[in-house]
Amino acid sequence: MSGIVLIVEDEDKLAQILVDYLCQAGFKTHTLADGLAVVPWVHEYQPCLILLDLMLPGKGGVEICKEVRTFSATPIIMTTARVEEIDRLLGLELGADDYICKPFSPREVVARVKAVLRRGGAAAQSAAGLSLDESRYRAILHGIDLDLTAVEFKLLTLLAANPGRIYGRQHLMDHIYPDQRIVSDRTIDSHIKKLRKKMAVAGSGEELIQSLYGVGYKYEGK
Ligand code: CA
Repeated sequence: MSGIVLIVEDEDKLAQILVDYLCQAGFKTHTLADGLAVVPWVHEYQPCLILLDLMLPGKGGVEICKEVRTFSATPIIMTTARVEEIDRLLGLELGADDYICKPFSPREVVARVKAVLRRGGAAAQSAAGLSLDESRYRAILHGIDLDLTAVEFKLLTLLAANPGRIYGRQHLMDHIYPDQRIVSDRTIDSHIKKLRKKMAVAGSGEELIQSLYGVGYKYEGK
């Protein structure tokens, strides 16, 4: 995660005021005014928080919020000029972390940004990234249920038990198929591929499972 607060606001003056206040409070910022530019930017730079205006040229805040939530858990604070909009937005269950009504005091925005980041930081820490519930085959990464198959869960549990240790494919196969069933190397690769995909959706952009060409896999995480 980049540590940048992304400000999405098409009113130049307002955007500049937010930049000034957030910079004073020690944040790095980036500003976008075009709704269409937001999702690609978030993909590439992974901001630590998004201040998202509801009414934007190109693509609206509601749609942007939904799209970002398909690949990122980064906190989103939505801003709107209409207080009655907030009830409607809450009803849509967009996954935004907070809502602020305009006109707002920039001081209040900074306070809310800090509060949301504190909350997010606490959640990430308590999860220590990954938590595994072996009784239910449930894996939670950064607070998100990965919804793993039994095989994926077993692979992840083994790898995560010894971060940094490299496991060869044969070892992994013996672990998930103790009955010595004949499976090919590719079976492991395809399970790992699906597992990594699920983890990428919940993750913060880091590759937790790394492959070593021709050797096997390891888990890199805390
Ligand atoms: Ca606007």
